[in-house]
Amino acid sequence: MKTITTENAASKGIAIGKVFLFHQETIAADTRLILEAEQENELQRYQKAVTEVCAELEELAKNSDIFAAHIELAQDVMLQDSVFTKIQSECKNAELALEETISELVQVFAEMDDVYLKERADDIKDIGKRLMYALKGIKTNPFADVQEDTIVVAKDLAPSDTANMDFQFIKGFITETGGMTSHVCIMARSMEIPAFVGVAQIQSQVQNGDEIILDTMEQKIICNPDAQTKMAYQQKAKAYEEQKANLQAIKDLPAKTEDGKVVELFANVGSIADVENACKKGAEGIGLFRSEFLYMENQHFPTEEEQFLAYKKAVELMQRPIIIRTLDIGGDKALSYHTFEKEENPFLGWRAIRISLEMKQMFQTQLRALLRASAYGDIRIMYPMIISVDEFLQANAILEECKKQLQEEGIAFDENIQTGIMVETPAAVLCAEDLAQVVDFFSIGTNDLTQYILAVDRGNEKIKNLYNTFHPAVLRAIRTVIQAGKKYGKLVGMCGEFASDEKAVPILLGMGLDEFSMVAAEIAKVKYQIRHLDYAQCCVIAEEVCQKHSVAEVQHYLENIVS
Ligand code: PEP
Ligand code: MG
Repeated sequence: MKTITTENAASKGIAIGKVFLFHQETIAADTRLILEAEQENELQRYQKAVTEVCAELEELAKNSDIFAAHIELAQDVMLQDSVFTKIQSECKNAELALEETISELVQVFAEMDDVYLKERADDIKDIGKRLMYALKGIKTNPFADVQEDTIVVAKDLAPSDTANMDFQFIKGFITETGGMTSHVCIMARSMEIPAFVGVAQIQSQVQNGDEIILDTMEQKIICNPDAQTKMAYQQKAKAYEEQKANLQAIKDLPAKTEDGKVVELFANVGSIADVENACKKGAEGIGLFRSEFLYMENQHFPTEEEQFLAYKKAVELMQRPIIIRTLDIGGDKALSYHTFEKEENPFLGWRAIRISLEMKQMFQTQLRALLRASAYGDIRIMYPMIISVDEFLQANAILEECKKQLQEEGIAFDENIQTGIMVETPAAVLCAEDLAQVVDFFSIGTNDLTQYILAVDRGNEKIKNLYNTFHPAVLRAIRTVIQAGKKYGKLVGMCGEFASDEKAVPILLGMGLDEFSMVAAEIAKVKYQIRHLDYAQCCVIAEEVCQKHSVAEVQHYLENIVS
């Protein structure tokens, strides 16, 4: 028995199964030079391969947005032009032209500094592989023979690999590469499959057929467990699954405390697939729709029509309120098709609403799309990174211009569409009363608020021990915002990770938070907790916790009241 401890849990759970070492097959392309007379045939073969791959992807796109983006890639003009040039001007056959083009594109993306764009190199490799298989007429599913509980251990897993898996048998993944925004990570989370990513050298530490236990809560991989350990984890896994099923059973009940206080549980989403999942998990609305995905998955600024269709689809699926955040780009989020000047302090730089107010046409495109979609359901607009009343009013003034345009064009929209802000800067906290008088709602973004109040970069490993939302400064900031909202009768929500923290929930309830927004998978757990809390007691907890003088005092206090 051997235990490997690791950190990068992509998705929660316990899985037990036999190791399946997955090695991505690199197929040797039949690469050769051709005669001029063969060129037409090679061009046609390539086009046929693209058509076949797109048809395959259309099927897969019904269940995952990732594949919709892959269709665009497969049809990408740059990709096709490069392949065609190599066939026509350099007399290369379709396989050789494709192989060279893909490796050139992968190189360009892999050399980018931005983590998100770097990981897009994997999408290009994946498309290249699909096209190559189609050219060679190969149809293989390496997981076809998997007939028992299995943990796939791979260097990396591309969407085309996970699409082949039968999750009746495949119980977990471990990959050597892949960050928190990689596809394998997103896939694992949306399928609720326990997974670790970025586990160095894992393929050389286990063998095909080894039995392993993967416990992402304990952050452990146990290889070839003894009978006693295996039994203990089987029981733990069973209890975990039962708990999940029990929680699912309360998904349609209200989040109501024992003494009758009702709050709303909303979901945070970053794609249309997430909206579908939020409906299944009992979300009463969407508290944060991160519109960035529309901009990051495209190869161009999404058009008004593209955005309108996405927002319309989301609100029609949800049939409940959806708070859509306008583009929150910059900082750690970049776009492949737009160059942002390098900044010394990107988190304090040109990002979010600052970009939208300057790139007015782009902002108007998004606002017009949001307004048009508001004719189909309860859409609310939220501006990110606001630091002043003035910024909010400027954004709303542009919204008014868009409303006027639409009226003149005779296009329907919700005239009373609500507008609110993310409270995620110290300035917004200190001006909360001023802001509360002009906005329709607040949503507290504790992920950024913590980093800005404490001056601790949220992504810096070296100082991660200092990043703590239970710091009295952050807790008091949250209380200030909620009180300001209450004073002026405005709804206050929270869409930062803190809203689903078990120890934070009683405090936030007691402070008077109206709406808690979180990843859909956490909703049932938080609902269960709220249904077993006493609001009057939570008010006392909220009051007392704000009197503490340090993170340690807060934690000590909470340990004694929350089991
Ligand atoms: C936040 O800052 O708390 C938030 C929800 O936004 P993001 O994590 O997208 O910055
Ligand atoms: Mg934020």
